[in-house]
Amino acid sequence: MIHEIAPHVLDNQFKIQDPKPNDYCLVYNGSKSLLKKEGNGYALPTVAEIQKLGFEDFEGHYLLNIDERAFFLLAVAEDYAAPEGYEFTGNRAFRPMAPVERLGGATAAHIAHWEALNKFCGKCGNVTIRGEKERSIICPKCGNVVYPRISPVVIIAVRNGDKLLMAHNIDNPNPMLFLISGFVEVGESLEQAAHREVMEEAGVKIKNLKYFGSQPWPFSDSLIAGWTAELDGDDTIHMQAEELSEALWVKREDIPPYATDVSISCCLIENFRTGFTLPET
Ligand SMILES: [Zn+2]
Repeated sequence: MIHEIAPHVLDNQFKIQDPKPNDYCLVYNGSKSLLKKEGNGYALPTVAEIQKLGFEDFEGHYLLNIDERAFFLLAVAEDYAAPEGYEFTGNRAFRPMAPVERLGGATAAHIAHWEALNKFCGKCGNVTIRGEKERSIICPKCGNVVYPRISPVVIIAVRNGDKLLMAHNIDNPNPMLFLISGFVEVGESLEQAAHREVMEEAGVKIKNLKYFGSQPWPFSDSLIAGWTAELDGDDTIHMQAEELSEALWVKREDIPPYATDVSISCCLIENFRTGFTLPET
């Protein structure tokens, strides 16, 4: 999964640190990241490369380290034009990168997005400043403190004998089938969210809900909790057409292999496909 980068180590403790030329720099325009075009994909530029683009007096700030290499953030105006050889891209551009750049870049973009959304105080409207003792944004006028936004999500692998409940979200450009998932609502537990999401999106009940694991999902400012469960009762699917284009029971032998290096969704599917069994009840 995206956060499993051993032997590399993520250090995301808040600190204030000066940039080195070879550190990475995420240039962020409020919604997109400036990446270097490289072959068919993209690469994260270094601080030295960004300085050559007219930012000699580098005003970026430190975000995190992976091993000895830091990731800095430089926020630019929304209308800043991408220089030649560069492009402003959405978060998906980090997906094919090597594990260190993928996790570091996407996490940096997650923090950059949070900073971009909190330039002004939501309580009094004053201009905010970055906290100096922890990762926070502070309003110097009214004292309002804002911490990074991490939205909890549940994802559930529902088993019905030798079949798995799979679905396709209408907003996902990837045509492959995945699992039922959704954001946790205010006032409910992760378990309640799992039951509710499966009922809302597929119209079936579940039992034997068991925690599988979790992962950060910086692409949607989220933390995802993965679960396994079994169908409880009627297997007739009533698909929520506003969210999904497909929802169906797929036989184990009809599920293709999924790469498990990025998402917990694929790990849950592989876990079922390669012989996952739940204890009998
Ligand atoms: Zn304020």
